[in-house]
Amino acid sequence: MPQLKRATAGNLLLAAMSAEERGRLLGGEAPINMTFSETLGEPGGRIHHVYFPIEGFISLITPGVDRAQLEIGLVGSEGMLGVPLLLGVNVSPLRALVQGAGRAWRVDAATFTQSLESHPGIRTTLNRYLYVFVAQLMQTATCTRFHLVEARLARWLLMTRDRAHSSQFHVTHEFLAYMLGVRRVGVTSAASALQRRNLIRYNRGDLAILDVRGLERAACSCYATDKKIYSRTFTKKTDRAGSHSVGQTAAMKLAGEIASAISC
Ligand SMILES: [Zn+2]
Repeated sequence: MPQLKRATAGNLLLAAMSAEERGRLLGGEAPINMTFSETLGEPGGRIHHVYFPIEGFISLITPGVDRAQLEIGLVGSEGMLGVPLLLGVNVSPLRALVQGAGRAWRVDAATFTQSLESHPGIRTTLNRYLYVFVAQLMQTATCTRFHLVEARLARWLLMTRDRAHSSQFHVTHEFLAYMLGVRRVGVTSAASALQRRNLIRYNRGDLAILDVRGLERAACSCYATDKKIYSRTFTKKTDRAGSHSVGQTAAMKLAGEIASAISC
């Protein structure tokens, strides 16, 4: 990942903004620390803050039916938590749970909303992320219905790796069950299959990806599709509406670097 983005913000969406836009959003605040298993949002709960993760990552989980829960998205340094505010809604539809501890920029909801109004470039950048976010949700719906558990596990582990910025991370059995929407025995079976192929090592929650390329081959096509959508959305030279400002052009150039960074 280019040093520039790390130095400026650490979050790829913030890095795609101009220094003025970033300053308007973040003010003089320092990043906060997100702790493992911290809840940042509940279904039906009011959104008080928007989070732009730097190192940590957040799992988005649907409200349970008969105590069963399903993870439908992951937010790391490529994204943000709080997209309903972009649509003028201040209520969370999902549970947001920190699965990877680390720093994040936190912006209160009022500042965020005011910034969207005063700096249209911020909205332009974040609307593109909103599109990616919705596309990923649709992809996950297809994935959960049609793809095999082992391939889905490989996909989610790769997504977690990208957001953890490491091939080694802690992931509980319970969280893997959320990821896949299956019982724990199903998790054990899929993880064991990937271990037998020497793609991962999993022991008491400590997971190591041993062969990234092999795991990519084992993953369902959704992993590559998600990255393609992100790349296409942020590297498009001309705006979907037909025009964009010089400032947005610069943002798109940087966003092109973002897309290549996340594709690494
Ligand atoms: Zn899939």
